[in-house]
Parts: sequence; C-alpha cells; structure tokens
Amino acid sequence: MPLRPVLHFPDRRLREVSKPIEAVTDEIRALARDMLDVMYDEPGIGLAAPQLGFPVRLVVVDVAWTEEGAEKSPRILVNPEIVHAEGTLTWNEGCLSVPDFQAEVERAERVRLRASDLDGNALELEAEGLEAVCFQHELDHLDGVLFIDRISRLKRSIYVRKRMKQLRQGDEAGSQPASEDARQG
Ligand SMILES: [Zn+2]
Repeated sequence: MPLRPVLHFPDRRLREVSKPIEAVTDEIRALARDMLDVMYDEPGIGLAAPQLGFPVRLVVVDVAWTEEGAEKSPRILVNPEIVHAEGTLTWNEGCLSVPDFQAEVERAERVRLRASDLDGNALELEAEGLEAVCFQHELDHLDGVLFIDRISRLKRSIYVRKRMKQLRQGDEAGSQPASEDARQG
C-alpha cells in the first residue's frame, strides 16, 4: 500500500485540536503502523496523527534511529500529556509539515509525560534534550500548534511569504531533504 501523504502547511487540518482516543481499535493500530512507515520513510524523528489527516491524540517518536542503521526503537504514545516540564533550551527545529524551513525554538529542557501504549498500559516517561523537544513538538501538533507559532512574528511572516510563493509556483516537489542538524517531526 502506498504511504499516506504528510499534510503540509497551510493545510487547515493541521490546525485542528485532536480528540482523545477512547479505545485502541484495529483502525488505531493500523494508523500507528502507517505513521511509523511514514516517519521512517521521510525520514523524521516523530509524527503526530493529524499530520496524516487523522485528528486523534496519537504520536510516534524515535529519536535514536538514523538511516545509517541504528536499531528502530519507536515509542507509540496514545493520549500523551506533559505532566511536568522544567528548564529551557533552544533547539533548531524542522517539521515534515512545514517544508523547507528550520528555526530555533525555545522549549522545556526536561519533561515528564503520561500516555498509554497500544495495549492500554499506562506509561510514564521522562525525557531530556532532543527527545524532550520532540515530545513537545509532537504534542503541539495534537493541539493544532506548529513550531512556526513559537518563533518571532517576523521570522514566521518571512516563511509564510516564501511558502505561499512556492505554492503559487507549484514547487511542492522541489522540497529540500532535511539536513542532519535539524531532523524533523
Ligand atoms: Zn512537526
């Protein structure tokens, strides 16, 4: 089956607030598999269900995997919530839904999360650095928030103008691959 396409800014579906998952059905399990396939194919280090057009609170993250062959060790999180955050750090972020753009974003340095896995088991996770950034970025997607909402108005408007021009020129296919220093989610 072909991979599901990732929605790109300014698709309005990226702005929806996603709904909690009441029960992990076969459809949710299939969606999680599709999300992993897309994440590893792009490649990205995280993906949220609304990026594929499904407004449900499901994210997948794997910050360790690289194309050069580290083991895949994805985390699949159902209804994730940040229950504690501390410290601040600045990270150069990109996003599979925001083509051809990276920018520094200030985030919490460490987070504690609660979620469930696909079997309904409660999870509590702690993360710092890149993984903490990735969780915050993916959870933002569940609330319809993109990393470009967290940068200066000036930088955002420069990007939005460039993006609109790109779309007018029908240059969607001309996207640059992600560089190593700003892997995307
Ligand atoms: Zn993203």
